[in-house]
Amino acid sequence: MRTIIEPFRIKMTEPLKMISREERCAALAGAHHNVFLLDAEDCCIDLLTDSGTGAMSTRQWAALMLGDESYAGSRSWKKFEEAVRTITGMRHILPAHQGRAAESILAECLVKPGDIIPSNSHFDTTRANIEYAGGGAVDVLCARGLDTALDAPFKGDMDVEGLERCIATHGRDRIPFCMLTVTNNAGGGQPVSMRNVREVKRVLARHGIPLVIDACRFAENAFFIRECEEGYKDRTLLSIAQEMFSHADAATMSCKKDGLANIGGFLVCNDDAWAEQFRTLLILREGFPTYGGLAGRDLEVIAVGLFEALDHDYQVYRHATVEYLGSRLVARGIPIVRPVGGHAVFLNAAQFLPHIPALSYPGVGLVNALYIEGGVRAVELGSVMFGRIDAAGVETPAPLELVRLAFPRRVYTQSHFDYLIEVIEEVWRERSAIGPYRITYQPKLLRHFCCHFEPPAP
Ligand SMILES: *Cc1c(COP(=O)(O)O)cnc(C)c1O
Repeated sequence: MRTIIEPFRIKMTEPLKMISREERCAALAGAHHNVFLLDAEDCCIDLLTDSGTGAMSTRQWAALMLGDESYAGSRSWKKFEEAVRTITGMRHILPAHQGRAAESILAECLVKPGDIIPSNSHFDTTRANIEYAGGGAVDVLCARGLDTALDAPFKGDMDVEGLERCIATHGRDRIPFCMLTVTNNAGGGQPVSMRNVREVKRVLARHGIPLVIDACRFAENAFFIRECEEGYKDRTLLSIAQEMFSHADAATMSCKKDGLANIGGFLVCNDDAWAEQFRTLLILREGFPTYGGLAGRDLEVIAVGLFEALDHDYQVYRHATVEYLGSRLVARGIPIVRPVGGHAVFLNAAQFLPHIPALSYPGVGLVNALYIEGGVRAVELGSVMFGRIDAAGVETPAPLELVRLAFPRRVYTQSHFDYLIEVIEEVWRERSAIGPYRITYQPKLLRHFCCHFEPPAP
């Protein structure tokens, strides 16, 4: 059969509230024109993030009831530890309530003021945690990754020569570790090849610099490696993931992504001295090292979810949903990042709205238009999220102005995507009417979550 179907059927439903355009206009104004500040109920198709928004399986719901809520050494912890060790092969497994908690422990223990942390692309919370510790988060993405129109595999790869230059410029002593984000969320959800993981590790090993993998979408990445990299087509996703982690010295994970859970994360490493430092801070911030800010039932759910994410049929379906939307937008001439990523379709807001300069935030204009048109909630990944403001208050735009439509796992059906395509097409037709935005309030760090915008005058 050519038709790829959802490899599950639906046992429980959750109603979507349908509201009118007038109600959406009022809701957006009430949210200071920042969709992060909307009530979720007022969003018909919520593609803000794929993080923690997935649907659990019957096996996960059943596992949840087995949760052992003992404070220390619970049965649920044992299952979690075994699952994470099977996949990552790491000696030390530390649970955390979500990815950023793992990142904050990593950064606080290892990053000193003036340090430099290279990555293919840092995600926003990773960057913020490094900067908060006084370090510099440097993106060393391959040139292909910046060309949004280039339809090539593994555009999430790190620029290996760029990494060599980075080490030569800053010196090994100022680089406590290097990161690789798989898949590369900030860079269009593009995968990283095994070959690149190996080459990055080879360069780092020569300088004695550890490699930390930001593993949030490790299973989606493993699927891309199986599909697109020579020598992997007969391998299981688990064995591909294991091979990838075998090159790393540590990893951070948000189980809200490829853990198929609504909450959770972990920090893993091989080095005993690192583990001791991490554990101390973990107890201070997250909780005892056998629960790390999670309930026993959460640990159960993650232990099941990590393996469901590595199920081949699930990944075939997952990728087919992203491809379905992507190919239909391409057919209509709507500018998206090619090829589509593992968890999202990224609209190119700079090309969608060429009449809006970067510092008038075309991504925000597009996000807000999608909400008004169809109650679709997307997110800007452009100058609001990644722009830099220097000490003198001068703002530098981000390299790309993207809008991400992230797909919650196992949540929306094909008719939801057909509706979405219609909404995007309508916004595309009326795009010249979209105007510039201005920021009227912003906090210093992670401004995109809470800032207020002023829309163009009507
Ligand atoms: C989501 C995400 C994080 C942070 O994880 P949270 O669970 O949201 O704290 C870090 N890195 C990447 C690549 C992510 O996608």
